[in-house]
Amino acid sequence: MVREDLQRFLIVVLFSLIIGLAVSHVAICLLAGVTLFSIWQYRILYRVYTWLLSRKESNPPEQSGLVDALCSEIDFLRNRQRQRTQKLTGYLSRFQAATGALPDAVIILGVRGEIEWANDKAREYLGIRWPQDNRNRLVNLIRHPRLNEFLVKNHETSEKGLQLESPTNPGQILELRLVPYGESQKLLMARDITEIQRANQMRRDFIANASHELRTPLTVISGYLEGFDDDKEQFPEQLQSQIKQMRTQTARMQRLIDDLLTLSVLETNKQDPLKDTVRVPDMLGSIYQEAQGVSGIMNHIFYLESDPDLWLKGNTRELYSAFSNIVFNAVQHTPAEGIVRMRWYEDDQGAHFEVIDNGEGIAQEHLHRLTERFYRVDKGRSRDKGGTGLGLAIVKHVLVRHGGSLHIVSEPGKGSTFRCDFPRKNITHRFNENSVDSLSA
Ligand code: ADP
Repeated sequence: MVREDLQRFLIVVLFSLIIGLAVSHVAICLLAGVTLFSIWQYRILYRVYTWLLSRKESNPPEQSGLVDALCSEIDFLRNRQRQRTQKLTGYLSRFQAATGALPDAVIILGVRGEIEWANDKAREYLGIRWPQDNRNRLVNLIRHPRLNEFLVKNHETSEKGLQLESPTNPGQILELRLVPYGESQKLLMARDITEIQRANQMRRDFIANASHELRTPLTVISGYLEGFDDDKEQFPEQLQSQIKQMRTQTARMQRLIDDLLTLSVLETNKQDPLKDTVRVPDMLGSIYQEAQGVSGIMNHIFYLESDPDLWLKGNTRELYSAFSNIVFNAVQHTPAEGIVRMRWYEDDQGAHFEVIDNGEGIAQEHLHRLTERFYRVDKGRSRDKGGTGLGLAIVKHVLVRHGGSLHIVSEPGKGSTFRCDFPRKNITHRFNENSVDSLSA
């Protein structure tokens, strides 16, 4: 193609030269020839330019040589770009159709929390109108005290959802989830969990009501049985043993009801548990004493290492229930004269309460299920030992409410370690507390 252009130029030069020689004005003829050639070339370039500007699917100007090659390449790139655009438009409309069909509200948020896109459900659930609300900040459209904090804090920990009432449908409960993606963009999804909430509430109410209702008749029965026990000498031996069994079973039922009620209170209690200051070392002292009573003739050996200055923000009753459950479990699942070691200490991660025993231990496959309600490694044995199967569920709930977590390490035949971890922000030190009166011990 370059050759064609060169040939054309040489012909013009040659032709101008011949005419120049014929009229004895070589320089002028050469200049005129080259000028005409340049004008012609300029016209072709101008046609190419107008063709480029037209952006229509018209054919490029026909001209052999370099210009033709350029036009073909531009045409090829244009066609490719067109196909890409069509493909992307297809993807986009499919994406919009798919997200439009989703049962959840979906909103794409930019770096400052401004709305970049929203589906139809976002209008229904949150009142976000697309495209009218394009570029508006979400927090300016939905005024909710926890939303701003959620959007800022939850950037890193997107697995935690925020539950709030729909601003458009009072009574509708939504669960908001945030998924960071791309370069600091976020995908906000809102799910209607009203029915799930209602079912959970019904379940909680049912358990709480049933436990309350059972408590009174059981107290009466157990009162009578106690009376019988006081006068047991009057009864034949067989009846005495039956009364003893009845007393054991009513005590077990009472423990079950107490644990069920504790769990339902933990589940429904919306109060911040971190309001009080708990003198954990004192609490552990009491648990230590009680554990010795539980051990009784089994004569376990107890060790207590506790940092006397390490206190915790929390709820005294709840923490007592959690810590004592772990310690009494260790006593129950460790043979006579076994060792139960309690530790209360602080490190860079936070505060920790650890109970180590050298008892029967637990096989690996059970560990992740131990905090489920009524999950027991050996149902029969647990019942015989007076267990309700709810102890570790209570522990887990208490820890979750305190922002903590439970870690269990165990090996059958060697023993177990149960460790409660509390974040550093829950720690308070004895020497920092100036008003002893305000403490709940
Ligand atoms: P339970 O009332 O049966 O003790 P928990 O929820 O407190 O119920 O404990 C669940 C199960 O975990 C127990 O049944 C027992 O099998 C196991 N477990 C708990 N603590 C220990 C321990 N220290 N050593 C061995 N097994 C344990």
